[in-house]
Amino acid sequence: MGSFVDFKCKFCRYEEYGIGVGRGKAEMPFLSLYRCNHCHTIGSTWIHEGKIPRCSNCYDDAISILPDDARRVSCPKCGEPAVITPKEGSWD
Ligand SMILES: [Zn+2]
Ligand SMILES: [Zn+2]
Repeated sequence: MGSFVDFKCKFCRYEEYGIGVGRGKAEMPFLSLYRCNHCHTIGSTWIHEGKIPRCSNCYDDAISILPDDARRVSCPKCGEPAVITPKEGSWD
């Protein structure tokens, strides 16, 4: 089952709520957290085997995939340390 996370930067107040991550019923594809170096957002995107993952916002491939259990990440907007918190609920 996949889950959801929230991203929050207290420095510039950039926030993203309810980002879906993880695996559903199938092993592939799965949703992975990323930070986009092009449009400077945090989000999740589907990882397909043999395909380059792209930002789900701007479709650029200049993204850094983050581990599902990442809890600290530098904010894509201001570069300050921001937090990722797991959220209740699941998807499959
Ligand atoms: Zn920030
Ligand atoms: Zn982007």
